[in-house]
Amino acid sequence: MQKKLFIPGPVDVTEDVLQKMATPMIGHRSKEASALQRGISDKMRKVFNTKEEIILSTSSGSGLMEGAVRSCTAKRAAVFSVGAFGNRWYEMATANNVPADKFEVEWGTPTTPELVDKTLATGKYDLICITHNETSTGIMNPVEEIAEVMKKYPEVVYCLDTVSSMGGTNIEVDKLGVDICITSTQKALSLPPGLAICSMSQKAVERAKTVPHRGLYFDLLALYDYIQKKDYQYPSTPSLSHMFALDYQLDKMLAEGLDNRYRRHLECAELVREWARKYFEIFTMEGYLSNTLTVIKNTKGFSVGDLNKELGNRGYQISNGYGKLKENTFRIAHMAECSKEGLEALLREIEDILGLK
Ligand SMILES: *Cc1c(COP(=O)(O)O)cnc(C)c1O
Repeated sequence: MQKKLFIPGPVDVTEDVLQKMATPMIGHRSKEASALQRGISDKMRKVFNTKEEIILSTSSGSGLMEGAVRSCTAKRAAVFSVGAFGNRWYEMATANNVPADKFEVEWGTPTTPELVDKTLATGKYDLICITHNETSTGIMNPVEEIAEVMKKYPEVVYCLDTVSSMGGTNIEVDKLGVDICITSTQKALSLPPGLAICSMSQKAVERAKTVPHRGLYFDLLALYDYIQKKDYQYPSTPSLSHMFALDYQLDKMLAEGLDNRYRRHLECAELVREWARKYFEIFTMEGYLSNTLTVIKNTKGFSVGDLNKELGNRGYQISNGYGKLKENTFRIAHMAECSKEGLEALLREIEDILGLK
């Protein structure tokens, strides 16, 4: 049975968007391919709130995360981690022989502007990695406050992971001073997995020019240069299927209205939070709750695996906790084309299975 997905990616994709993945091929060196990329970039800039260049990568978001830390660290990277995906970013740096230090806080709490300030004041770092929306803990970091601190450090390249939030909540990339903002298709953008997207500022471009070993496939400077010089094309063959679907989905998002889309996400989030507070507890520190997923403490000690199995019989799927939180939390995603009605139906099933009153 096909299950309705309430997991933080991949998300359910609407039938019309799926159909666009089956568009007949065009040559990737054709004028049509350039026009397709240009259209995607123009629309994506509206979603990102940026005037910078948009780069696509035929990979999942991790590819661009690895590319960003490798291509743009000349001195040393400070990786701020609030959970599994921040830790992964640090591993990517060290696996690429990029000098880096990790600043991890207790899971469920945010990266504070004070921590960023204190770290950068040492003068040791020329690049930072921040997770906007940490999918393992349900944290949405205080990026507006961090942006204030970053004004003191204009030489530092700011990389932001918005994989599980872009398209689900408003992110003002330029206003926040973000140099490389990264996302991928299979979360709040409501597409199948397989394509990643980032913005790249001039500061990041200039930095990359000073880094000798940027790798090859995820060399952000090579991708950027190719787009400039070859009329919006790529060094290797991109997933044109994803590009057709993305172009179409962006039209749908803009037709819905980005503000409406973000309000819908927030309303879905509030519904799930209220429910979680009534029957359980929210794992994440209040004041920093994600608008695209909620991580809930399993205060009743039931088996999350068994719950998901029974939900599966009824045509639904949620997520267990991530890594070390596997059985003591569970996660409900409310992103992409989620609706309050859809979430209410899911929550009624959970209440019924667990006998919640
Ligand atoms: C899913 C996720 C990633 C990894 O993205 P992929 O597209 O699976 O490579 C990174 N960061 C966050 C916050 C995520 O939710």
